[in-house]
Amino acid sequence: MANDTVRVAIIGGGLAGATLANALYKLPHIAVNVFESAPEFSERGAAVGLSTNAQAALQESVESLKEVLQKAGSVPIASTRLMIGSGPGAGSLLLDFAGMESEPELIVHRASLLRELLAPLPKDILHPNKKLTKIDTSGDGVTITFEDDTVSQFDAVIGADGVFGTVRSHVVKSDQDQDFSASPGGFWDCRVLAPFDIAKATLGEELFKLDRQYGWLGDGAFIMHDVLENGTLVQMVISAVERDPPKDRKRPLTREFLESTLSSWMEGPIAKGVIDLILEQPNPQGYSQWEHKQTPTYAKGRVCIIGDAAHATTPWQGAGAGQAFEDVMVLAALLKNRVTSPKDIDAAFLAYDAVRRPRGQQVVDSSRGTGTILCGMDPEAGLDPAKLMPALGPRWAFLELDPKAHIAAALEKVAEFS
Ligand SMILES: Cc1cc2nc3c(=O)[nH]c(=O)nc-3n(C[C@H](O)[C@H](O)[C@H](O)COP(=O)(O)OP(=O)(O)OC[C@H]3O[C@@H](n4cnc5c(N)ncnc54)[C@H](O)[C@@H]3O)c2cc1C
Repeated sequence: MANDTVRVAIIGGGLAGATLANALYKLPHIAVNVFESAPEFSERGAAVGLSTNAQAALQESVESLKEVLQKAGSVPIASTRLMIGSGPGAGSLLLDFAGMESEPELIVHRASLLRELLAPLPKDILHPNKKLTKIDTSGDGVTITFEDDTVSQFDAVIGADGVFGTVRSHVVKSDQDQDFSASPGGFWDCRVLAPFDIAKATLGEELFKLDRQYGWLGDGAFIMHDVLENGTLVQMVISAVERDPPKDRKRPLTREFLESTLSSWMEGPIAKGVIDLILEQPNPQGYSQWEHKQTPTYAKGRVCIIGDAAHATTPWQGAGAGQAFEDVMVLAALLKNRVTSPKDIDAAFLAYDAVRRPRGQQVVDSSRGTGTILCGMDPEAGLDPAKLMPALGPRWAFLELDPKAHIAAALEKVAEFS
């Protein structure tokens, strides 16, 4: 029997939605459309680091990934150095992770990666200026309404609409006893880009001999910098412990505020220069890091959530985008191999939830703990180099994943829900 066409709406055209569209648009039995609330498909923010694990997941969904990453100006990270940034030991090297030449970690400008993920997609499946406002599953299929009052009908709806997404509130209902919406993770951060030559002149040549990522760990905060956009730009990040999260999730950054946050860093080699570079930007802001502390399901009937809509996390393990790519890899395999008509969707989405949710939650929880250590706030390790390495060393191992085995586990799960 020939497959029915299954009509799939992706809500949100960020990294998760665009990657899923790449995985689905060529499948003959799927008709996919992507709806984005912004007037154009675009990415805010500076860079995203792609671990080898994230690249392996992306590889499952994107044709010619190497070319996509090259066109996006990705830069291999030659090594990551972890340094002490504050106090008497400031400037000392804690650790140097050498990058693997054959499978390097990459750093890429977010806007450039999104541009290249969107490039192969047919223009007529991309719908900007379409803000989803309502989901109705009372009839046949899923009826979605947009802010402009237009209504469309689909067989399945996938929410890739980010940390404060509308689809999440359909899939996961909060009430007065349990709140499943995002909440502050305990840190804020600020990310800016500076031209390579200016960053090198301000922070010192020594730090730019190789395309290294530097992380400076210290009292109540963490500073990071890395080179991107084919070596022409430098991203700088200050993250710090947040004790009084502002309601609107952002704070203006002044010299007084930054110098008091980093008061025990000011005699060290990094904070002064990074503060100067941040204050050269127009209107610099610090943003609270928000996360989903609990999520009882990623799927409800023919509606599911992926990426930050499902498991927004603090960025301390550099794993948020990688998790979105893993969601896509699993969901696309299920839609390709286990869905031949709309009646198969519920079971496929439940299998997706069963395989992906424990891992998504593990990343959220582990990332918060890693932030505590990297800001020198771990009660055991503090800023003691001898204790920091044993505390940090094992925290990334669980992110390693065999993509084929993960997909196979999801495909096998479907039988349990059919
Ligand atoms: C500052 C920062 C640094 C990070 N660094 C890293 C890193 O180094 N490595 C890593 O792996 N991860 C990193 N992450 C995490 C990673 O970037 C995210 O996990 C990833 O981008 C999430 O993508 P997404 O598509 O799920 O969500 P988003 O990028 O938030 O996209 C959601 C999209 O949905 C649209 N939308 C929202 N509501 C609606 C609606 N109602 N209707 C239609 N469209 C809607 C939005 O406009 C947006 O385009 C970082 C995150 C941040 C914030």
